[in-house]
Amino acid sequence: MSRVEGVLRTLDFRALLALTPDILLLLERPSREKTWVIRFVNRAVRKLGYREGDLVGRPFSHLFDPTYKPVLEQTLGAFRGKEMRLQLPVRVRTRSGHLVPGSLGLVLLRIQGQARGYAILTVRSKQNVVERILNGVDVGILLVDRKGRIRYANRYARELFEDLKTLPREFLKVRQNSEPAEIQWKERFLGVSVYPAGDQQKEWLYLIKDITEKKWVQETLIRLDRFSSFGVLATGLAHEIKNPLAGMRLIAQNLARRMENEKDREALERMLRQIDRIDTLIKQFFSYVRPREPHPESIAVREVVDDLYPLVKDRLMKHRITFNVDIPEDLTIRADRHQFEQILLNLMLNAIDAMPNRGTLTLSAREVHQKLPRMAGDRWVEIVVQDTGVGMTPEQVEHIFVPFFTTKPSGTGLGLFIVHQLVTRNGGLIRVESKKNHGTRFILYMRPGDEGG
Ligand code: ADP
Ligand code: MG
Repeated sequence: MSRVEGVLRTLDFRALLALTPDILLLLERPSREKTWVIRFVNRAVRKLGYREGDLVGRPFSHLFDPTYKPVLEQTLGAFRGKEMRLQLPVRVRTRSGHLVPGSLGLVLLRIQGQARGYAILTVRSKQNVVERILNGVDVGILLVDRKGRIRYANRYARELFEDLKTLPREFLKVRQNSEPAEIQWKERFLGVSVYPAGDQQKEWLYLIKDITEKKWVQETLIRLDRFSSFGVLATGLAHEIKNPLAGMRLIAQNLARRMENEKDREALERMLRQIDRIDTLIKQFFSYVRPREPHPESIAVREVVDDLYPLVKDRLMKHRITFNVDIPEDLTIRADRHQFEQILLNLMLNAIDAMPNRGTLTLSAREVHQKLPRMAGDRWVEIVVQDTGVGMTPEQVEHIFVPFFTTKPSGTGLGLFIVHQLVTRNGGLIRVESKKNHGTRFILYMRPGDEGG
């Protein structure tokens, strides 16, 4: 054993070696060989993923970028004199094969005829890199022990929970799950997922995302969608008002013609002018809010369903509703994309409302060959929105397409009225089958996508 090694073996020196964050190495080059071999390395090497034992006995060059291994071996192998000092930037190879930048300070000596080397390897600690990443993301990351004590929190989580030592109870109740739980925390909505950290279930990893904005957008979108069809409603109402108005006008005209009494006739003519005024008002107002004409195009049904899913996902989860989709990817219909989205969304929202506590919502579609009453053509795409919810009585079914008919405390009663208008305007047909306490099926017949104009 050499003197140097003897010194290294003393306890004080070892403590020092263990303390320094730099990687210290003792190297040797066996006589008549070119390769420098690692004889000792301190604990700091663990930050590269190695155990000390992994490296002792291995070539020094093993620790570096393989592409400049030959240069390094050649430089060091050429050491002949008494002393050589080197200071160079290097790329250090971690145990998993990643390369991290570092710098190498090296002294090669010849002591009593033996070639020895002392190396100090400084790398930006791997933990710092990880730490930087963890603190840079907009996701709260927490490591929590079984009792809920916070063992680690990244910057985002620290800001969220300020100086909490223990994770609040509602978070601890979240179980390992495929879907993130939603928790309200100080005016924010958080999506929370939990994973076991390690395999002993001693510690848990929490990932926390702020979903307030997302939630807000979703709710608003749904609300907007419910009312963006106001124009459709308006046209419907316009017809409802204009027809009786035209009737009134006709009767008043006939009456006026037959009136002997000048005063009575004048009164009736005033009435006629008022009717005309209402008529003009309605025309002006409704031309202003008139919905845009449908722009039919060929649209993939499945794609629309996939686009709508994020809007209803939260509600489906909240009410534990199983969602099934059975729609061929290449099945297309000819319709206005936006209006078809509104149709499906309204039907899906109704189905969800009908299943407050568990149930199954199934969307299926296929092409059918069938004649439909008062409709030309016999090729249709049949789209079925089916739920296992509360269902309806036959009397209810009779009224569902009438505007303002609703059985919900905060319903508008406009959803299905709008659906009906939009389906008709897009050249389709809607039917409903329902059974009280069993569920409801809305069946849409739309034109196939390959059927032009
Ligand atoms: P709203 O949803 O605002 O009540 P809709 O026009 O969408 O208005 O629906 C009208 C009514 O039709 C609902 O209040 C409900 O009574 C009934 N309804 C619609 N869809 C379903 C369904 N899938 N299951 C049971 N009832 C339904
Ligand atoms: Mg509705």
